[in-house]
Amino acid sequence: MGKTIGFVPTMGALHAGHLALVERARNENDIVVCSIYVNPLQFNNTSDLNLYPRVLESDCTMLEAAGCDMVFTPDDTIISDSAGFEYEVGYLDTVMEGAFRPGHFKGVAYIVKKLFEIVAPHRAYFGEKDYQQLAVVRQMNSYFKLGVNIVPCLTVREPDGLAMSSRNTRLNHNERQIAPAIYKALLYIKENISHFPVTGLKNKFEEILFSHGLFSVEYIEICNAETLEILSNTTQCKNIVVCTAVNLGNVRLIDNIKINL
Ligand code: AMP
Repeated sequence: MGKTIGFVPTMGALHAGHLALVERARNENDIVVCSIYVNPLQFNNTSDLNLYPRVLESDCTMLEAAGCDMVFTPDDTIISDSAGFEYEVGYLDTVMEGAFRPGHFKGVAYIVKKLFEIVAPHRAYFGEKDYQQLAVVRQMNSYFKLGVNIVPCLTVREPDGLAMSSRNTRLNHNERQIAPAIYKALLYIKENISHFPVTGLKNKFEEILFSHGLFSVEYIEICNAETLEILSNTTQCKNIVVCTAVNLGNVRLIDNIKINL
């Protein structure tokens, strides 16, 4: 009676970024539950879904070491009633990840709601690495009045600045060498935000990445950190987040950086 449950939803192939969420949940709750489910609803193409790494056994070893009490690994019956899920993501579905990955956030909202209903956590831990996803989860949680305390956690990076991601294992040696340029280009925007207009900052971001070859930029946007409204000038906004998605070879990577003015 009265024990608190901290919940960490994941798609597995765990790394130190996921484990930081688990460790925080461990510190703040009596019971820690982690889910591992590669949710087909949030993939836009079957090859990305099929290529997603699945390493359940080593994930469980890492979770045990991090102090996780229970691992929930649903099968696809969990999405059997997804066709009847009526929820409009709204604005967040029209920009950045929402615009480039149609249906992705509805799939995220569906599975997170389902997992919340099953696990019934007091707190759920989400990484700021997926900044827009965090905003969608918050919005869905309050829309359905699920009452879960959503806890945002800082992005964990490799020593060279690359944001940890399960997809990083799909980078070849050369791609992995140049991947930290994404964070360097985000830092450039952070350091220069008061000196140049938004278009100049975005152009410079692309220039930095293109100088390394191999990158294509899907989007780079400077946003209001609370609403994710896309800004064309930064003078009106104190809390900013810069969000990007790039393709490096065949691997799609996202990252972001927060700026408080
Ligand atoms: P995923 O398994 O990629 O769906 O991620 C599960 C959770 O871990 C999400 O809340 C992510 O935002 C979070 N996460 C993934 N990578 C990182 C990272 N590098 N730092 C912090 N949190 C992360």
